[in-house]
Amino acid sequence: MTVLDQIADAIGADRILTGTDAAPYGKDWTGAYTSTPLAVLRPTTTAEVSAILKIANAIKTPVVPASGRTGLTGATLAQDALMLSVERLNDIYDINVDGRTATVGAGVILSTLHDAAEAHDLIFPLTLGARGSAMIGGLLSTNAGGSNVVRYGSTRGLCLGLEVVMADGRVMNLMSALHKDNSGLDLRNLVIGAEGTLGIITAAVLKLRPKPQAYATAMVAVASLSDALTLLYKLQDETGNGVEAFEYMPRSYIDKHRQLFPNVARPFEKDYDVNIMIEVAATQAKDAIPTPDGSLPVVSALEETLGAMLEEGTVLDAIIAQNEAQRREIWKRREDAGEVAFFGGVFVNTDVAVPLDKVADFEKMLTPGSRRLTQMQTK
Ligand SMILES: Cc1cc2nc3c(=O)[nH]c(=O)nc-3n(C[C@H](O)[C@H](O)[C@H](O)COP(=O)(O)OP(=O)(O)OC[C@H]3O[C@@H](n4cnc5c(N)ncnc54)[C@H](O)[C@@H]3O)c2cc1C
Repeated sequence: MTVLDQIADAIGADRILTGTDAAPYGKDWTGAYTSTPLAVLRPTTTAEVSAILKIANAIKTPVVPASGRTGLTGATLAQDALMLSVERLNDIYDINVDGRTATVGAGVILSTLHDAAEAHDLIFPLTLGARGSAMIGGLLSTNAGGSNVVRYGSTRGLCLGLEVVMADGRVMNLMSALHKDNSGLDLRNLVIGAEGTLGIITAAVLKLRPKPQAYATAMVAVASLSDALTLLYKLQDETGNGVEAFEYMPRSYIDKHRQLFPNVARPFEKDYDVNIMIEVAATQAKDAIPTPDGSLPVVSALEETLGAMLEEGTVLDAIIAQNEAQRREIWKRREDAGEVAFFGGVFVNTDVAVPLDKVADFEKMLTPGSRRLTQMQTK
């Protein structure tokens, strides 16, 4: 019996795609990485995932887990391997309003979880441009950051519990909903970010947060990255850490974005080297109730801070969204980051993390012909 016959016997032939049915799964979001999986397996339960891995392990057939296939690194290529898609493990088992947790299958799409949480006036704060396709299993496996990382941390910081099926089919139940869990080694945090190398995530317990009552969103130009840090810390102090997004867009990013999306206007009449997208959230009702002149206190507070910094010269220019349409336009520039990175020119495919105060030094190293980059390459 072939490996596929054995899997069909164990979980049913309707869970297996081959040939032209499997072909679309050989492509990811980028379209740059293609493969022809031996077959695509679409289990509907953890027990089925376990049965597949037991069989594949016994016959030593490689298995590549896949969720939304929006990762930008070709990590779901499954040439001469079985692709295990978790897309049908897509139940939202529970939204626990009092405990502020969501228990979900690994195949739940991020935007679906957003909607489910919002129905209870809560949010799952992780968000990124691929939210309509990326799934919880993939987001956890890449420890995705997204554009609210400055306030809420990356996916690792938003996960309390996991269910994982290991390569030999054993199921590891780490589905704790505890914020402090000292029961043994922290296996959950080993699996998060492991990109499927330690097992397949089948379910998770995630943290939910209260839904902000209103937002103040702005594009701001500053003279240097050091001024950008001054701005970030000042805003964090003044808003009680209400800064949800603080995204640096160098002039080259704005230029490439304009090339790809000519219909989106430049943020400012003049071009600046250091452009920052800012979003501040009001979590207290008093900051979200319009004053008699119709303005929102959270927006007025941001205007005041930026105005003062404009006068003292730290801020060079600023535009604050006055309505949801303007807010969406500012966000679009950020959410197109995947397209700008991948289709905007030469692209070094890696996931870079740099301490906040070293971003300027790092940028200098990337300048073509930079001595320091050349030194790094030759080491
Ligand atoms: C437009 C766009 C914007 C983006 N913006 C950001 C951003 O702002 N911040 C950021 O951090 N990332 C961003 N990304 C990349 C981001 O990493 C992915 O979108 C997301 O985390 C991957 O989720 P996915 O469901 O598509 O996973 P996939 O691409 O399917 O898989 C990613 C990896 O995880 C493994 N894997 C998948 N499912 C499982 C599972 N159940 N168990 C174990 N391993 C598994 C896969 O084998 C692969 O190695 C963006 C991507 C796009 C296309």
